[in-house]
Amino acid sequence: MTTVAAYAAPAAKAPLERTTIERRAVGEFDVLIDIKFAGICHSDIHQARDGWRPGTFPMVPGHEIAGVVSEVGPGVTKYAVGDRVGVGCMVDSCRECDNCKAGLEQYCSGGGPVWTYNGTGKDGQPTYGGYSQKIVVDQDYVVRIPDGLSLDVAAPLLCAGITTYSPLRHWNAGPGKKVAVVGLGGLGHVGVKLAHALGAEVTVLSQSLRKKDDGLKLGADHYYATSDPKTFEELAGTFDLILNTVSAPLDFAPYFSLLRTDGSMVNVGLPEEPVQIVLQTLFGNRRSVSSSGIGGIAETQEMLDFCAEHGVGAEIELISAEEINDAYERVLSSDVRYRFVIDTATI
Ligand code: NAP
Ligand code: ZN
Ligand code: ZN
Repeated sequence: MTTVAAYAAPAAKAPLERTTIERRAVGEFDVLIDIKFAGICHSDIHQARDGWRPGTFPMVPGHEIAGVVSEVGPGVTKYAVGDRVGVGCMVDSCRECDNCKAGLEQYCSGGGPVWTYNGTGKDGQPTYGGYSQKIVVDQDYVVRIPDGLSLDVAAPLLCAGITTYSPLRHWNAGPGKKVAVVGLGGLGHVGVKLAHALGAEVTVLSQSLRKKDDGLKLGADHYYATSDPKTFEELAGTFDLILNTVSAPLDFAPYFSLLRTDGSMVNVGLPEEPVQIVLQTLFGNRRSVSSSGIGGIAETQEMLDFCAEHGVGAEIELISAEEINDAYERVLSSDVRYRFVIDTATI
């Protein structure tokens, strides 16, 4: 066991504060990672404030982890000391169910994946995330960060990147496809970059035009404010795919009206309250509504390699650990451009 500095929420809704946690000894197939950077995902805030219930406290959030391998177990073949690596939302799964065998570990039906934090490890102990200086992870749930990506802008790709890449690929975003991204936050801004790199025609649907210049620079072809009712008239029946990254419930009907026949609206945002869908707004054009969770380990590696090849990293604001609570408030008021990343040396 190693004692490691970390930032934790001692109880639901309590401000995060410095603490220490124990990491398990490096096992046969484990990798010890010196964490360099950890992104702040809106999911960290949902969970630290117990919006998804029930959370386990104290909670050390963080599932956008980038660092360097500092020790490997005797059975480790995939990584060596000094390798640049990342860890996302899961640190293990059953490995035997159909989903795990198909590389869809995030949908593990053998009890679900072991979440990086706010979960229970196979040793029965609570898991603690990336707002800490070291983590021990089985090599099969670690990915390699290509040399072309610096660790700070790579960190958010471990959740925001894969959560947008996976549905964009699954629903065939690419040349000839019109894709709308709703919400230009952490997920949304990476989604815009990825959809553009995949060759789709990209439209941002944001609450206002406040971030329009940024959106166009990120790769969007068009930018509209959802606060303007004319947006919904002008874009009716336009999109093959709408990727909704909004963390709050939306009135879905106006968004469904923007889908063309057979279009799909995929919701990766996970609001804390249930949402209501009126089926009459879907049936007329055989529209679909769905959701998608992160992505598998192999697909996460594929996404990182794609990002390195296409020069896609997150736009980040680097912060020290003592700024985490302020950063949470800024994310909640959509005042983030576009991902806060903690310099874990400051923990
Ligand atoms: P974020 O940085 O806060 O971005 C969310 C964006 O949604 C905001 O920037 C804002 O964009 C828009 N928004 C916020 N409140 C809104 C409201 N009341 N009405 C309309 N638009 C609103 O959050 P994030 O880290 O990208 O995460 C977004 C959501 O995805 C969260 O619910 C998170 O838990 C979830 N998530 C899901 C997965 C998954 O696997 N499915 C993975 C990671 C995160 P504008 O200012 O442009 O309007
Ligand atoms: Zn996340
Ligand atoms: Zn499984």
